[in-house]
Amino acid sequence: MTVRTRVAPSPTGDPHVGTAYIALFNLCFARAHGGQFLLRIEDTDQTRSTPESEQAILDSLRWLGLTWDEGPDIGGDNGPYRQSERMDLYREHADQLVAAGNAFRCYRTAAELDALREARRAGGHSTALKPSDLRLADEEVAAREDRGDPYVIRLLVPEEEGVCVVRDMLRGDIELDWGMIDAQILLKSDGMPTYHLANVVDDHLMGITHVLRGEEWINSAPKHKLLYEYFKWDMPQLCHLPLLRNPDKSKLSKRKNPTSILYYERMGFLPEALINYLGRMGWSMPDEREKFTLSEMIDDFDIQRVSLGGPIFDREKLSWLNGMWLREDFDDEALADRLVDWAFNRDNLMRVLPHARQRMETLSDLAPLAGFLVSGILPLSEASFDSVKGDREAIIKVLQFALWRLEARREWTRDLIWDDMKGLADALDIKIKDLLAPLFIAIAGSSASFSVVDSMAMLGPDMSRARIRHAVEVLGGVSKKAAKRLDKEYMALGAL
Ligand code: GLU
Repeated sequence: MTVRTRVAPSPTGDPHVGTAYIALFNLCFARAHGGQFLLRIEDTDQTRSTPESEQAILDSLRWLGLTWDEGPDIGGDNGPYRQSERMDLYREHADQLVAAGNAFRCYRTAAELDALREARRAGGHSTALKPSDLRLADEEVAAREDRGDPYVIRLLVPEEEGVCVVRDMLRGDIELDWGMIDAQILLKSDGMPTYHLANVVDDHLMGITHVLRGEEWINSAPKHKLLYEYFKWDMPQLCHLPLLRNPDKSKLSKRKNPTSILYYERMGFLPEALINYLGRMGWSMPDEREKFTLSEMIDDFDIQRVSLGGPIFDREKLSWLNGMWLREDFDDEALADRLVDWAFNRDNLMRVLPHARQRMETLSDLAPLAGFLVSGILPLSEASFDSVKGDREAIIKVLQFALWRLEARREWTRDLIWDDMKGLADALDIKIKDLLAPLFIAIAGSSASFSVVDSMAMLGPDMSRARIRHAVEVLGGVSKKAAKRLDKEYMALGAL
């Protein structure tokens, strides 16, 4: 048997370090067994998926030095590798399940579903709706069908409570309660498949033998197991990797830690060090050494060396490792090349000069004017905001609102950022100048700089957002209570 693994990211939002971590372990497992690793894009959620996000995922994984044998960008014998291009397959398979009596059409309306859940809750049961809850009398089904009412296709799941045993490569037999497993929607009323159907059909058709994925998918495993049984397919071996965590042990989230790979690239981390650090997440080399290359990891890879305690993604530790890489593996020549590639190049100068030149008298004026564009997080203090009108609370509010606005922004251009900020100033009934003043400090470290909107466009979304977040922290941060109040106020501004 040839081992085949895959990573299956959904192209929504920024490329996440968690995606790279899962990709890395799948890649190592496949390569260590002389097998293949492929990349599939799970873009069935058409409202949230974007081509920009897909491109950013592919670019970031490549930047990290990861390679795949089949994928949407390079093709392969088992394509297409984008789920949105495989819709007919999912419909066919859903129909096949219905024909065999393993799935059923469900005409229940949203209001009926709410009432059914309520009834289960009142009866002391889980709210997982079972086929018997959903069943309608034959005449009612016929009437709804005649009217052309919308329907979904749902999975037939066991009614009775009982244990579903799922075998995991690291955890052994995991017991899950059938009582908690609902008659999962497989095909939505618009004909789109859900994750469960598309994922199982694709893993089978793409010949996947081992599924290494995050532990948040354990609860889906019984549904997948049923699907494999109904289709009479062999189920791949499952391996649920531990979730990455913040230093306070909570699940890694961008509220507490930057999670976008683009942020780490922009901060000047080396891809060699970042991939090395991700390799240390729950895994260790046989000799426990901290520093290793991707190919060394592949040579020594053994999935059984994964430990299940939640690995902590700690930026300070990453910086320390990055420093080791920088000092030990780069001579001056190599470092100079890397710096030029990273930021000190003509393209970047050409982007900055149109903004900087009006303020320059000598060439040496450039560095103080534009240094913030090649810096990481700026050394701000509360006093940095002394020149800004308004009290601390008011400044925090403006920064937080601007941050929320910019977090929602997908396409990152000067004009769109300007429109966002202008819209926000209008909604708050303040002058745009007053809205931009604290942003100037957050983004450039001083108000003696060129347009903050241009600066943000040049810095990119990740660094811009990280600096605004940092500014909010420096000013004392937003407590949970304050966040609630601000959120309410922000929502009341309406669609900006
Ligand atoms: N699309 C899923 C995700 O975004 C894939 C989960 C899996 O590997 O099965 O994580």
